Amino acid sequence: MSEDVSCLKAQLEEKEREIAALKNKLSLLEKSQTLVLDLHDKVTPLTPLRAKHALSNEDIMRYSRQLLLPDLGVRGQLNLSKTSVLIVGCGGLGCPLAQYLAAAGIGRLGLLDYDEVELSNLHRQVLHGEENQGQAKALSAANAVRRLNSTVECVPYHLQLSPENALQLIQQYDIVADCSDNVPTRYLVSDACVLSGKPLVSASALRMDGQLTVYNYRGGPCYRCLYPAPPPPETVTNCSDGGVLGVVPGIMGCFQALEVIKIASGQGSSFGQQLLMFDAQDARFRSIKLRPRQAGCAVCGEEPSVTQLVDYEAFCGSAATDKCQRLHLLSRDQRITAQDYKSILDDAGPHLLLDVRPLVEVDICHLPFSLNIPLSSLEERKSEHLQLLRERVGQLKRQMAGGGRPPVYVICKQGNDSQKAVQLLEKMSGSELDHVTVKDISGGLMAWARTVDPTFPQY
Ligand SMILES: [Zn+2]
Repeated sequence: MSEDVSCLKAQLEEKEREIAALKNKLSLLEKSQTLVLDLHDKVTPLTPLRAKHALSNEDIMRYSRQLLLPDLGVRGQLNLSKTSVLIVGCGGLGCPLAQYLAAAGIGRLGLLDYDEVELSNLHRQVLHGEENQGQAKALSAANAVRRLNSTVECVPYHLQLSPENALQLIQQYDIVADCSDNVPTRYLVSDACVLSGKPLVSASALRMDGQLTVYNYRGGPCYRCLYPAPPPPETVTNCSDGGVLGVVPGIMGCFQALEVIKIASGQGSSFGQQLLMFDAQDARFRSIKLRPRQAGCAVCGEEPSVTQLVDYEAFCGSAATDKCQRLHLLSRDQRITAQDYKSILDDAGPHLLLDVRPLVEVDICHLPFSLNIPLSSLEERKSEHLQLLRERVGQLKRQMAGGGRPPVYVICKQGNDSQKAVQLLEKMSGSELDHVTVKDISGGLMAWARTVDPTFPQY
């Protein structure tokens, strides 16, 4: 009899354990379903971050490897949990930055991006996946970060940072990280950080180079102290300049995370007056001492002229996005559409199609009957290229026995460089070159792909 009782008791205990396990599983599932993040399309006041006074057992387990570091310790970990960081741009820099800050246990992450995920982002923006294409980057990044560490509070903002919303937003965060990729946003973020007294950890990456600086920190300079005037817009408007090896922003974003963590944990950053430059080709870092805060700086100087945010697109003469801007250098009769060019092709009239993209882009895709002479070769008057062009124009002239100026159509990727080339060729026509009629193909090969040949690759 007593054996039966103990046997039943053991069975009951077993069932109770099973029930407890099932309840636990259910609560985890329910928790994950309620973790639907609210995407913010405007800036609203946030509730204050709840201050943690002690680490839970789960915290101790999760962060044990970094708690063991005397430089961080329990105090540094608690400081991280009390810190909010705004990440401006969830792209190649913002992704690794958000990932490491969340993993390290930062208290709150504001994730801001106006854009949606595209296939061409994935080689460097490693928080997003194929299934996130078309989704707001801020939300995609927030969801990825939450999978990594659900104790971090994420606030995704699907909006463009502007002079109207930047101060209200930045005032709500302790540290700002600039992961943007355009000049107007750099000035906007820097000015807003000066006006609200926040440190700014700023990085950039292009091609095979990266840079990192901490602005407005412990009496150091702001962005304007170093760059009082923006660069001429035409130097930053170039359709061919957008290349970057994905791991380069990856490395710079990790560096940004390191400096944010040092500031947030209380160790402090040593980057207040330094610029870190990374040369990926030579795998070399260099550190340059920056000039100190400038007394005459327009925003952080002794008599500032910028006391509120201004129109940064007007100040810089360029748009606050990374989208290729359309130049308007030519009159309407100097340009034709891609469809117009298709009709010219169909009519088989003698002409020359000149592709002025760099060779590396021609290798990606090109129209088989085009002649490639990069814009830079025309600008530098490279003799072998000019000779080639003269020969082709001469051939064309012989073909057009009836006379008239041989028509030259110029194409590039998106129709900016080709306009510059048309201007150049018009200057050369009749002097360095036989007389020609030059026209630009508006919108370039990407317009060709969109409106004429959908099988032509887009990049
Ligand atoms: Zn300054």
